[in-house]
Amino acid sequence: MKVVCHPDQKRHYPLQFLVNGVFRPNPEQPERLDCLLQAALRAGCRHEAPLIHGMEPLAAVHSGAYLEFLERAWERWQRIEGAAPAVIPNVHPDQRQVGYPASVVAQAGYHMADAAAPLADGSWASILWSAWSAVHAARLVIDGEPAAYALCRPPGHHAFADMAGGFCYLNNTAIAAELLLRAHDRVAILDVDLHHGNGTQSIFYQRADVLTVSIHADPERFYPFFWGYASEYGAGPGDGYNLNLPLARGSGDDAFLAQLDTALARIRQFAPGALVVALGLDAFEGDPFGGLRVSTRGFGEIGRRIAALTLPTLLVQEGGYLCDELGENLGSFLDGLGVD
Ligand SMILES: [Zn+2]
Repeated sequence: MKVVCHPDQKRHYPLQFLVNGVFRPNPEQPERLDCLLQAALRAGCRHEAPLIHGMEPLAAVHSGAYLEFLERAWERWQRIEGAAPAVIPNVHPDQRQVGYPASVVAQAGYHMADAAAPLADGSWASILWSAWSAVHAARLVIDGEPAAYALCRPPGHHAFADMAGGFCYLNNTAIAAELLLRAHDRVAILDVDLHHGNGTQSIFYQRADVLTVSIHADPERFYPFFWGYASEYGAGPGDGYNLNLPLARGSGDDAFLAQLDTALARIRQFAPGALVVALGLDAFEGDPFGGLRVSTRGFGEIGRRIAALTLPTLLVQEGGYLCDELGENLGSFLDGLGVD
């Protein structure tokens, strides 16, 4: 299997994010890319750098105003006297139906759900290459590879069509799913990240051609709080095509695998032409977020059960933060998936 990523994905270097009103070191660090790439190579993957894939596949998911904001906001922010070195929002509209603001300060509040997705020097280059890694890997699968691994960093599943949040800017998983739809009538997304894939859910919420399934820590007292409940089934033509499988905080392998079996049964019933796995590794028992207690062996079993679907499969990296076992957890998952 090929692992796709570009070294410029390391240029984005977010320093801090707000937790309970306190600025803390941001765990979404560039070193994640090296750690995961080395682990993928150890597991037998072959590295391929993505090509430049233009804006068209990104614009299939994200609004033009949002893409322009991401590209230019940092440079505009630097012209504000005394501004911080990174774009961080401090004012938000009470509803999204307001008119579109002209000021970069107001646009930051409009396009950023929280203070965990700062834009600094080099951020846009990393965001763009991360999305192009997803596009590139999706094309490999469309061209007949049984599986490919898009090592996306920064991650994407908390990004909405026009809003960043939770370390995410462009929704790499959604961009990849849109591309796969050019070759298949139906695509399923399985999100195994510790956190609910709220951006991905929102993008496909009213559609029946993309099934979105997410297994995650119960959002009642956990990010992203406002989304991720079992009562969210989809809407309009998408009614019945979103499945949320929340888990009590601290759940381990058995509980996670039981939800996974429910997820896989729904995916089989949907009979998609291809699968996108939003591959977060932060459900790990030793992850700094500490929300769930999946073990290194557990990730292997998750991979094995996903492989049993025998679908063309695209892995898109989401969360999973620096700890001694981060690389091992990816290796265990890839071994379980068992694709050469
Ligand atoms: Zn996460």
